[in-house]
Amino acid sequence: MMAAPAIGPLSLNTVTVKERWGLAECIEGCARHAIPGISPWRDVLQAMGVGKAARQIREAGLLVSGLCRGGMFPAADAAGRRAAIEDNRRAIDEAQAIGAACLVMVCGGLPPGSRDLPGARQMVHEGLAEIVPYARSAGVTIGLEPLHPMTCADRSVLSTLGQALDLCDALGEGVGVALDVYHVWWDPDLSRQIARAGSRIAGFHTCDWLVPTTDLVFDRGMPGDGVIDIPAIRAMVQAAGYAGAVECELLSRRWWAEDPDRVLSIMKERHNTVC
Ligand code: ZN
Repeated sequence: MMAAPAIGPLSLNTVTVKERWGLAECIEGCARHAIPGISPWRDVLQAMGVGKAARQIREAGLLVSGLCRGGMFPAADAAGRRAAIEDNRRAIDEAQAIGAACLVMVCGGLPPGSRDLPGARQMVHEGLAEIVPYARSAGVTIGLEPLHPMTCADRSVLSTLGQALDLCDALGEGVGVALDVYHVWWDPDLSRQIARAGSRIAGFHTCDWLVPTTDLVFDRGMPGDGVIDIPAIRAMVQAAGYAGAVECELLSRRWWAEDPDRVLSIMKERHNTVC
């Protein structure tokens, strides 16, 4: 009998404890709880200073499963789209500085007042095409994260893994996908698309879908508290060849109110028992 593949190392996405901990405390917390990975958001990274953060992450021996986030390409005018490109270049520099496995892309929604969804998708494609050569030369992998369609208007016109892989096909080398169970669990085509993704899976994020979900952004569940079959999705991802980190990313008012040390111990326990 073949042994089950080992679970990838746990990584703390800093948004999980963002109300109480900055990046320095997250780094110390990972060391204290023997959590091998970290995935910072750019606000806490910039608050600490990119150079200092890179040093401390390295000294703590943490792997960096991702940097959250680039993207947000659609804008009402050319100046806005240009500003987004510039900001994405800075995000690529930051991802390179901290040795992130990928720069996670939340691609952006409709420009204010627009009803032109195909146009917004075109802006995403064109924005990505502009930054991909820069990312390639920096050695930074782009991780396109499809978001649940409920976010299509304001955060991501990229909704499904199939759509993300079509973009990967069009953009070529150096572009992969960041797979977040919260955003893709409902997709009837999921297993087929994960197999299609293969080596292009650049990140794997976990949390859970609560029933009922009381807030469309800030009510994600701790793995094991909701209805997502996380082990089944993880098995698909591993079968596709992914051996990277399993990143726990909770945007949750309930968990933000808790003591971060308690959040990390529960997260670690769920990683071992649920994920
Ligand atoms: Zn995510």
